[in-house]
Amino acid sequence: MSTYAAPLKDMRFAIRELAGLSEVSALPGFGEVNAELADAVLAEAGKFAQEVLDPLNRDGDKQGARLADGKVIPPKGFKEAYRKFIEAGWNGLGGQPEYGGQGLPHLVATPVQEIWKSGNMALCLAPMLTSGVFEALRHHGSPQQQKTYLPKLTSGEWTGTMNLTEPQAGSDLSAVSTRAEREGDHYRIRGTKIFITWGEHDMSENIVHLVLARTPDAPEGVKGISLYIVPKFLVKPDGSTGERNDVRCVSIEHKMGIHASPTCVMAYGDNKGAIGYLVGEENRGLEYMFTMMNYARLGVGVEGVALAERAYQHALEYAKTRVQGREIGQRSGDRVTIIHHPDVRRMLMSMRAQTEAMRALAYYAAATLDKAKHHPDPAEKRRSQALLDLLTPIVKGWCTEQGVEVASTGIQVHGGMGFVEETGAAQYLRDARITTIYEGTTGIQANDLVGRKVGFEKGATALAVIGAMREIDARLAARGESLASTRVNLREGVDSLDAATRWIVETFPGNPKAVAAVAVPYLKLFGTVAGGWMMARAALVAQEKLKQPDADRDFLQAKLATARFYAEHELPRALPLAREVTRGAESVLALDPGKF
Ligand SMILES: Cc1cc2nc3c(=O)[nH]c(=O)nc-3n(C[C@H](O)[C@H](O)[C@H](O)COP(=O)(O)OP(=O)(O)OC[C@H]3O[C@@H](n4cnc5c(N)ncnc54)[C@H](O)[C@@H]3O)c2cc1C
Repeated sequence: MSTYAAPLKDMRFAIRELAGLSEVSALPGFGEVNAELADAVLAEAGKFAQEVLDPLNRDGDKQGARLADGKVIPPKGFKEAYRKFIEAGWNGLGGQPEYGGQGLPHLVATPVQEIWKSGNMALCLAPMLTSGVFEALRHHGSPQQQKTYLPKLTSGEWTGTMNLTEPQAGSDLSAVSTRAEREGDHYRIRGTKIFITWGEHDMSENIVHLVLARTPDAPEGVKGISLYIVPKFLVKPDGSTGERNDVRCVSIEHKMGIHASPTCVMAYGDNKGAIGYLVGEENRGLEYMFTMMNYARLGVGVEGVALAERAYQHALEYAKTRVQGREIGQRSGDRVTIIHHPDVRRMLMSMRAQTEAMRALAYYAAATLDKAKHHPDPAEKRRSQALLDLLTPIVKGWCTEQGVEVASTGIQVHGGMGFVEETGAAQYLRDARITTIYEGTTGIQANDLVGRKVGFEKGATALAVIGAMREIDARLAARGESLASTRVNLREGVDSLDAATRWIVETFPGNPKAVAAVAVPYLKLFGTVAGGWMMARAALVAQEKLKQPDADRDFLQAKLATARFYAEHELPRALPLAREVTRGAESVLALDPGKF
């Protein structure tokens, strides 16, 4: 089994050189954030993940969470690890200082999230959802609700959950049927939610459920959904926990992966009705929940990066130890480790290049989020928000789809040993597989991208990003032969994205169905080209830095090799994807549903 080591050098490079740490440090409130601070935080997080989280990952997968006598029991060691996690203050890293958080920017908190998810994704889903609940209440909760819940959610003494899904309401939340009836200053909640991550457990003193429900007189559809806080234990006026609320976990799902994370069926109000407190105004619940979901979507995109990194490290170690065959062209002599075989190197390079490109894009989105929240210039703030809105479905959809692909390639590197559970490679693929589904499937992300983010905007933000991608062409050209293939492949990729974007903009008003038919290829195209843009920028920086006498030559040369690989092996996927977008809709729709 490999031991996880946080890829600190690449993280630092992406934070400083590609996402723009200096610009984020210049934002109001982040004056003390600098490269040294970010390095120190990441190094400590890496140590915690290596020593505490990663060692539990395999056993957590084997044992899984259990339900016994109405209680959910996490795998051995999880409760202690969670305690250490919150005692070390990790839960409040990105939280607001007024509630006990450390107020670090997303650009630092996001790489730390990557580290947690590489170390132990199942366990670290609990803090991720807690942060989402924090964000929703910080924006939409009443001052009293904020005072009651935010400090405990920041410290991690209480965890949070997100309760949207019901058997008949998955991607389509307009079908939510959980009821909320007013009773004095609170509501009585009755209904069943399914698939609730960390819906029940004993790692924290209390669990704050955010629940979507509708009042009896609410309008039909999404316009009639409200958001409620339903604490597992009711909170007394002094802030301590009191009586148990009428909410319980009735079963946990048996899943393909993330076995250690309990996915609960939650029954609300089997007896008197669970006590819930309205967040904000009635019928605006979905809008409020989106605050949480957008945040969580970026977080899930980072899960794709994290599992790709973990799978890469695991495959690399195996490739360096497994002996099989001789060097190509040699009939005699020593047998070699499989990393000597060109095809194994190709697989490792593809895993590495995709992971680095995804990381760069996810961190770039995190810096954009910081600017959207904190930039003092209203125009720049608006521009950043539009860019973030565009990038969110791409980071969520593309990074998770690639995460699955990378984890699958990791199994291929192991050969048969990857397919059996013994080596642990299969766990990364099983765990990664959910990331393209929850927080909105890839199809839902792609619909959002082509509709709200490109179609309705007539491509304004997308075309501006394409313009920024073209801007580096002159700089690539100035480097001559050394970056020639990067330049050519990026240019072709950007041309393909440009053509596909214009097709979407033109087709969307008259034929949204055709656009929806090719939305996923478009999302993948955008991700692939944006990743190529990041890697080309990385190559430009690496070349510059190599001129410095104290340069880390091994790292920078490896970065150049990886960027070139991305340009020559990943970017060429753009052309067929663009063709699929511009010429493929009709065949998707050729068979009527009844003719399948
Ligand atoms: C392990 C796990 C953890 C989860 N955690 C939580 C949680 O904590 N809280 C919570 O509320 N939920 C949670 N979920 C639920 C998850 O968010 C849903 O499974 C997801 O939103 C998809 O809904 P569904 O399963 O009903 O699939 P469906 O909506 O039935 O989708 C089935 C297929 O149809 C496609 N589809 C559906 N509608 C459209 C459309 N309009 N356009 C294009 N394609 C469409 C989908 O892309 C998918 O391929 C979790 C699920 C799992 C498995």
